[in-house]
Formats: sequence, structure tokens, C-alpha cells
Amino acid sequence: MAKAISSSNILILVIAAVDEEVRKMQKLKVGVLGATGMVGQRFVQLLEGHPWFEVAYVAASEASAGKSYAAAVEGRWHNATKIPELVGKLIVGNVADVDAALKSCSFVFSALETDAAKIFEEKYAEAGLPVVSNASAHRHTRDVPMVMPEINPEHLDIIPQQRKSRGWKKGFIVVKPNCSIQSYMAPLFALRKFGIKQVIVTTMQAISGAGHPGVASLDIIDNVIPLIKGEEEKTETEPLKIFGKVSGSEIVYDGSIKISAHCNRVPVIDGHMACVSVSFEKKPSRQQVMDAWKNFKAAPQELKLPMAPAQPIIYTDDAARPQTRLDRDNDKGMATTVGRLRDCNVLDYRFVGLSHNIIRGAAGGAILTAELLKAKGMLQ
Ligand code: NAP
Repeated sequence: MAKAISSSNILILVIAAVDEEVRKMQKLKVGVLGATGMVGQRFVQLLEGHPWFEVAYVAASEASAGKSYAAAVEGRWHNATKIPELVGKLIVGNVADVDAALKSCSFVFSALETDAAKIFEEKYAEAGLPVVSNASAHRHTRDVPMVMPEINPEHLDIIPQQRKSRGWKKGFIVVKPNCSIQSYMAPLFALRKFGIKQVIVTTMQAISGAGHPGVASLDIIDNVIPLIKGEEEKTETEPLKIFGKVSGSEIVYDGSIKISAHCNRVPVIDGHMACVSVSFEKKPSRQQVMDAWKNFKAAPQELKLPMAPAQPIIYTDDAARPQTRLDRDNDKGMATTVGRLRDCNVLDYRFVGLSHNIIRGAAGGAILTAELLKAKGMLQ
């Protein structure tokens, strides 16, 4: 026999429903440019149920525009979870239609292919929408901060200057760095007090880093490809901007560190691994290195940002770890896992770092940056 619902239970249900509506109304509406690609799809997945942001707009190339999001990604949805129902019903806009985004959201994430990002990101910022980008188009634009929230949150202070010199009222551009450097930047940053001099890094990068359809299966199965175009240059220069300083209207690069990189594509789906050798002005003890990593916490953890990993650097004592398949998802795919710390016969120490290229290295890292912007009152 069905139980009668008491009036007090009805009241509780009504209050919960009103609460939910109020929470939804308070969320910032966000657009995802390039929403149909590898990274764009991760934004859509990770933002489902996000406490502060709600996907209200999606856009891609004219090939996808006009279709429902579900139809546009049919046969190429890469996530294990289902397409969020409400986003699946959104009609994909054409990235060229900036006005449509302006009417629908307060800021945008850009997961656009590089050339499209070069054309459109400034147009969105000029129109008044903050852009948090994954693309490389503006990584070396001097007044555009390239942010890893645990390392250089103070670079966001350049935004008023960026707006002023471009005459932008509400919009701005913030970028996140290349996916592979996330596998060792936080571990290096934690050791910076010992004066980093030289870094030699060899990466083993997942095929999802090349987007979809990316590298042909006949090229990558049973193979390692020792060339990812432009990647070594990015690996050698982007850390210098992140370790740099805001000075007036630009970010001045750190010229004190020399980096040499080898970047390889390997047949794993997600997760970029890096073997790193590093030298210091004052070589720390092994214990000092371990302590610096284990105790590392920064702004995202202090501010309790929703996407922040509890422990940004996880050190593993297991001599055969980190391993890509076993460790890429640590702390929702947002932690950097390090291991195999040992003396180096050429530089001072060597270690292995690993991070998830699509989460920490792309969509998750950009969401964390947007959370930092919101916490600092820079997203309204
Ligand atoms: P992807 O799978 O190739 O997706 C590219 C997206 O851009 C799609 O939504 C595509 O729309 C759209 N697009 C392509 N050409 C366009 C054009 N001419 N006009 C408008 N939209 C266009 O690439 P991805 O791997 O997601 O990468 C996206 C961005 O993130 C790139 O800039 C990449 O360098 C950067 N990134 C990637 C990773 C990674 O691990 N994959 C990590 C960090 C940063 P259609 O579907 O309609 O073609």
C-alpha cells in the first residue's frame, strides 16, 4: 500500500527543489568553443554537476554547427560517461558567431584547434567575454598570462593591463600551458628554492594529445614516434614564462634555467610521462626533495577550489611507478605523480613524472584556472 506523504515531507521536497533552482540560477553560464573535440568533450564531461559553472553554450566549426551537440559528437564521443542530457540537447553554434555566445554565457573555455584559436579568441575577448584557453595561439603573447594555478596565480594580475592596452572592457584572455609540461612543472617548482639551473626532459606522450582522429593507428600501434611537431620548442620555452614575473605591461621570462627536451609519441591513449634530469645551484639532499614534494600545497588547495587535487604532487615509493595506466587518474586526474627519484650521473637528480594530458593537461587544468579567476572575483 502506498504511504501517504506528510505535509512536512512535501515542504522539505519543495524547499529542496527551490534550493536546487536557486543554485542553478547562481551558477555562471559558460560556453565551450571547440566543444566537439577531444578536449571540448572533456570540458562537457567535467563540468557536469560543477558547483560554480554550467555549460550553457557549445560551438565548433561550421561542419558541426546547427546540429544538436549529441548529433555532432555521434560516433566520436570519447568519454566513458554518457553525454550530459542538457548539453546533448544544445544546438552547436558556429564559432564565428560571437554574438550567439555573448547572449548565452558569461565566459568561454576555448578548446579550439590552433588556427581557429588564433582567429577567434581575441574576437571573443574584444566582444566582452573572458576566454580561458587550451590552445597555443596566445601562450607567448606577452600580456597574456599562461597559468598553472599552483605555480603562478599572481600572473593573473596582468589582466587589467591587458584590457587597458587593448581597449577591452570586460573580456580578457588567459591560457594554460602545453599538456606535457604539467607532468613535471609542479615538482620542479617545489624545488625552485634550490636554484634550478638545467633540465633535460624526455617525454612519452599519449595519442589523445594529438586530438581526434590524431595519429593514424598504423603509425602508432607497435611503435614510438620520436617527433611531435613544435612540442620540444613548447617544452623548452613555456616553463620560462610560467616561472617569469609580471613587469608593467608584460610577463618577463625567467632566463636563468636551460631546458633541453626530447618529445615522443607512444601508444597509450591518455597520460603524458616525463623522465627528467635536473641540476641545482645548491644541490638539496634527497630528504629535502621528498619533503618539498610531499608538503607542496598552493593557492588552489588553500582556496579549496572544486577541481583542485588535495595533494598536487603525489610521490610514489614503488620503484616501478608511476605507470601511465595505473597513475594517470590519481586525484580525479588532477595530480602529478612522481617517482624514481635517484642521483643523476650527469646532472644532480633524475625522476619520472606523470599527469593526465586531457584532464590536468587540458580541460581540468583550464577549469581550475577559471575557478581561481572566480575566487579572485575576476569572473562575474
Ligand atoms: P580536436 O579533437 O581536433 O578538436 C578541435 C576542435 O576545434 C573541434 O571542436 C573542431 O570542431 C574545432 N575546430 C577545428 N577547426 C575549426 C575551425 N576552422 N573553426 C572553428 N572550429 C574549429 O583537438 P583537441 O585535442 O581537442 O585540442 C583542442 C585544443 O586544445 C588545441 O588547440 C590543442 O592544441 C589544445 N590542447 C590539446 C591537448 C590534448 O591533450 N589533446 C592538451 C592541451 C591542449 P569540429 O568538430 O566541428 O571540427
